[in-house]
Amino acid sequence: MSRGTCATMDPSALQYNLQRVKALAPKARIWAVVKADGYGHGAVQAAQALHQADGFAVASLAEAQTLRDAGIEASILLLEGTLGPLQALDAVRLGCDTAVHQTEQLAVLEAMADRIERQVIWLKVDTGMHRLGVNPEQVPDFVRRIQAIQPGQAVNLMTHFASADQPETSYTALQIDRFNQLAQAVPGVQLCLANSAGVMAWPDSHADWVRPGIMLYGASPGFAKTGLELGLRPVMQLTAPVIALRTVPAGDWVGYGARWQASRPSRIATLAIGYGDGYPRHAPDNTPVWLGGQRVPLVGKVSMDMITVDVTDIANVQLGDSAELWGEHLSVDEVASHIGTVGYELLTRVSPRVDKKWPDA
Ligand SMILES: *Cc1c(COP(=O)(O)O)cnc(C)c1O
Repeated sequence: MSRGTCATMDPSALQYNLQRVKALAPKARIWAVVKADGYGHGAVQAAQALHQADGFAVASLAEAQTLRDAGIEASILLLEGTLGPLQALDAVRLGCDTAVHQTEQLAVLEAMADRIERQVIWLKVDTGMHRLGVNPEQVPDFVRRIQAIQPGQAVNLMTHFASADQPETSYTALQIDRFNQLAQAVPGVQLCLANSAGVMAWPDSHADWVRPGIMLYGASPGFAKTGLELGLRPVMQLTAPVIALRTVPAGDWVGYGARWQASRPSRIATLAIGYGDGYPRHAPDNTPVWLGGQRVPLVGKVSMDMITVDVTDIANVQLGDSAELWGEHLSVDEVASHIGTVGYELLTRVSPRVDKKWPDA
């Protein structure tokens, strides 16, 4: 039994966006990032639709396990590596490539050197994000130790950008410079720098591999533009049915806490979606919702199971009509900017209560 609140996915949009990555970075191989359950879309189905990527990047062993359990045999990269020897062994068992971003991880790998001959290690360097990664001056020592574990294998270096969606600042250029200087000292090295914003705005960062996530799902990595404006196709359409309609007299208030007051007699539609479905409770009045072929404003606070919208200005709204919270008519990025967040957060917080629909393969 479905209550009609659905996230409907379009695999052809994923494939289209992957082609955008290939057109922007034609020489690079692609780690398609499918962490956080494929940015809320479903990691397995996303990876299946993205079979033309060169591998998949995830944040945790559990995410890697989910892909392997579904029979996905492609390369998988653990972006944060592992914590402790048990996880390191699991990574080998699952056939994952792994990031190494600190001494403790390297020490674990050294202690199990005989078991990781074929594991690809990506040494993560902190060039300015200051979240994960070894310091630039530690790189020669780490490279030497990794080569001692895996003689004859290519050395792989990666780094992550802090503000690649702000091309007007020079910080990304500084990060690229620092990284390239290190890379020059390592012969036969494979390099990976770019997230989606790097793919789109920093061709100098494309190198051997790129790691796009959000752009594959058709949402924007920033640039004060929506995914649609950046030429991407949204993969998720989030919809909810109209479950009640009423007319509220001028002067009355709608919803909890009397936040919104009708300034005229107002036609109010109640939709079957709320914060229990992942629609943010802090969405303000006037956050847009797509209904009846146009934008209508959210009015009143978001409840757990419902929201209310003002449909006074549209003709013929009926019970059961489907409203789009975001999708191809209304970019998730436009909604996010009203709410003071980013498309990344809205997509990843869609809750399990929402039916996630993929067309049958
Ligand atoms: C999430 C993540 C990405 C993808 O970033 P997008 O902005 O979604 O393209 C790339 N690299 C790392 C290390 C990440 O954690």
